[in-house]
Amino acid sequence: MSFEAFNKLSYGLHIISSVRGGRAVGCVVNTMGQVTSSPLQLSVTIHKDNETTKAILESGKFTGVVLGQNASMELIGRFGFQSSAEIDKFEGYSWTVDCNGISYINEQTVARFSCTVKKTLDIGTHIIFVGEVDESELLDAATPSMTYQYYHLVKKGLTPPKASSYRPAEEKEEKKVTGWRCKICGYIYEGETLPPDYICPICKKGADVFEKL
Ligand code: FE
Repeated sequence: MSFEAFNKLSYGLHIISSVRGGRAVGCVVNTMGQVTSSPLQLSVTIHKDNETTKAILESGKFTGVVLGQNASMELIGRFGFQSSAEIDKFEGYSWTVDCNGISYINEQTVARFSCTVKKTLDIGTHIIFVGEVDESELLDAATPSMTYQYYHLVKKGLTPPKASSYRPAEEKEEKKVTGWRCKICGYIYEGETLPPDYICPICKKGADVFEKL
């Protein structure tokens, strides 16, 4: 098996949001794409354990936004490495409610698609949702979309365990540095001693989740 072959697949980076029990929830995925033009349909694949998956199954609605190249690691960390079950991911960011009553992030994003679920397919660890687009919107014409390659190469981002493209081998490819690694998001603190009150800048977890490299 060549894992380098899998690295040649290209993706975008998106935030998928929905609503559960009146709460706005969402997560980062690299699995949204257009599947038909008539009708306009998108598919998105999300891990079954995600709060967002449960919300989409209950509400039958999801909204996908395309992250711009200007998206910060803080925004990606918030939606990609934390759980909607524990925090309000939208707090502190600019958001709007769409035609389906779903909240979406409207900063650092370049396009928005509001969808009603037409098909779901259980593929084991993940569920594929196919949604018909009820409304689409160009949010930022000037900024390029964040590709997965840009995220990895320029932003030095990691792939969380619940992502479709996750593979444990990725950890072994990291450069040798002296420091501590966050076991939640992979952020590396460079230095011999980790301050006991240190908070991970990406996933906001404490020093107790860091391991010595
Ligand atoms: Fe972290």
